[in-house]
Amino acid sequence: MERTVYVNGDYVPEREAKISVFDRGFLFADGVYEVTSVLNGKLVDFAGHIRRLRRSLDELQMRMPCSEEELLQIHRRLVELNAVTEGMVYMQITRGAADRDFAYPESATPTLVLFTQARPVIANPVAARGARVVTVEDLRWGRRDIKTVQLLYPSMAKMIAKGQGVDDAWLVQDGKITEGTSNNAYIVTQDGTIVTRELSHDILPGITRAAVLNCVRELQMKVEERAFSVEEALAAREAFTTSATGFVCPVVEIDGTVLGDGKPGPVAQRLRQIYIEESLKSAI
Ligand code: PLP
Repeated sequence: MERTVYVNGDYVPEREAKISVFDRGFLFADGVYEVTSVLNGKLVDFAGHIRRLRRSLDELQMRMPCSEEELLQIHRRLVELNAVTEGMVYMQITRGAADRDFAYPESATPTLVLFTQARPVIANPVAARGARVVTVEDLRWGRRDIKTVQLLYPSMAKMIAKGQGVDDAWLVQDGKITEGTSNNAYIVTQDGTIVTRELSHDILPGITRAAVLNCVRELQMKVEERAFSVEEALAAREAFTTSATGFVCPVVEIDGTVLGDGKPGPVAQRLRQIYIEESLKSAI
């Protein structure tokens, strides 16, 4: 079935959707995006994604193309038109079309594009068996806290991982893990402490990360927000990642070292279960 996508005010069949060749998203990766997961046809943590979108736009001196309420309505309409029960909505805002120039144009109209992708998110086979990852040097730019569309290095890192026959890469800067190619990274130490890197310009402030850390604190589990080394990760009892589309995903192997018994660990499995239950309750 051909999807309906949203482009600058219109709902159109995907083959008819068009963007200018002068769009700065295309020429400079001058754009930001959000991915919101869909469960039972409803949006998970929409408010969190809009908050981060505003922050990304502010950091790049871009403006919101429309109100939050309108963005919500567009998300809902696309989910309905494409009959998505499980999957995600992708939203991208670029600075718009202008003659090619490194300086931001003074008056460009932002481009707003949204589309859906249907896929099972709860019954995810990788989450069921646990992901295998390899560490790869983090060669991304220095403002990873802004969710821009310049994703070429994460894409290269993912290909390095795939080339080694595993699922994903964990990125490493100065011997410490920053995050996964498209997720935040966690370990559970031998004494049961959950460790994940603190927020800074080095990582994306994950919306799922914030929600999962809230659960962790409510459950009074031990947690430390700090950088952890590759050696610490290899010696961990278990590991996992979080992201809007992967939820909480257990990691069972890092650089060929099997963690624990090589099966998804109890902390990751419990947090995945709780996060799914909470998301089903709170989705709008
Ligand atoms: N870190 C990176 C680099 C990402 O690309 C993503 C998601 O795309 C995340 C972390 C997880 O963020 P969220 O939980 O908001 O999906």
